[in-house]
Amino acid sequence: MPKGFSGYRSDMKFTFDTKTEKSSILLIYTGGTIGMKADPVEQTLKPFDFSQILEEVPELGKFAYRIDSCTFDPVIDSADIEPKLWQKTVRLIDERYEEYDGFVILHGTDTMAYSASALSFMIEGLTKPVIFTGSQLPVGAARTDGKENLVSAVEIAADKDPQGHAIVPEVCICFGNSLMRGNRTSKVSSENFRAFRSGNFPLLAEAGISIRYDRANIRRPDDWSRRPVFHTELDTRVSILKIHPGITPQVVRNILCGPETRAVIIETYGSGNAPTKEWFLDIIEEGIAMGKIILNVTQCLAGSVDMGLYATGKKLRDAGVLCGYDCTTEGALAKLFYLMGISEDNAFVARELDKNLRGEITK
Ligand code: ASP
Repeated sequence: MPKGFSGYRSDMKFTFDTKTEKSSILLIYTGGTIGMKADPVEQTLKPFDFSQILEEVPELGKFAYRIDSCTFDPVIDSADIEPKLWQKTVRLIDERYEEYDGFVILHGTDTMAYSASALSFMIEGLTKPVIFTGSQLPVGAARTDGKENLVSAVEIAADKDPQGHAIVPEVCICFGNSLMRGNRTSKVSSENFRAFRSGNFPLLAEAGISIRYDRANIRRPDDWSRRPVFHTELDTRVSILKIHPGITPQVVRNILCGPETRAVIIETYGSGNAPTKEWFLDIIEEGIAMGKIILNVTQCLAGSVDMGLYATGKKLRDAGVLCGYDCTTEGALAKLFYLMGISEDNAFVARELDKNLRGEITK
């Protein structure tokens, strides 16, 4: 176990071929299906020890990489992920940043898009890959997708260009042969091996016989020698209001005007449309008057909010609702947590929301 992984369960260090070592990777195992196995008594999937994952994926030994690992204590189903676990992961990457060329985070699929979005904002000026992966079937299952996902994630995290720079210095999700920008993804299937979709941004790479990178779309830092800034302050006072036919004034008011809420993400129809009923706009205005940040994102899996397109959207804009462009809900939530964590000033948050900070919106 590499020294100093505080807050993590004692874990093994497994090092392959250190003499010809080309890259070094830190694998952070948080939990999820990839590391679960069937409990015959309870007939449910339960996490098992990470060392068994390594036994299951001897293919990793074929790379001339140094791969160290550490494990969340306890490992969790990602339904239990909390911002404090994002903070813990970011602190670990911060502490170990110089020691590794890339980081691979094994994570349950259920909230992987939220975690990848969060880390993309929490690490500013990234110069190394942070690649999330997991699987739909446990790595020990005969038809598992876990091996392929893990092996591709490790290869991508280790890949460098001839100058020695990481090819993908971004927070990504590697799943089902696709590499996607983390803050552009959503989980779209609970069964398919292609469980994630990046509806508004091209894949950053595809893993076939070789890994084909879309270099033009990969973000690169302005200055490779500058250390990233690791942000761990998050303000989670955000609610999400999904608009639907039949929504009542009571429900809208409870969510929009709740005393504990600093910001509300409204998931609207199509290109940012919401009911034009007077009571609805009245409550929106009430929320804005109370100082709430209200951000409009679309319920659609692809496409953008454009509040100038229809009268319904325009009314929201006139009331002071902010445009979320083509941001996913997961990305919007993470962006708000991060921006509100760095400032108490809502005008600052509103200005930053309108900017493309980590490739999360098309502007
Ligand atoms: N419930 C699991 C989790 O998110 C599902 C998975 O890993 O695919 O941790």
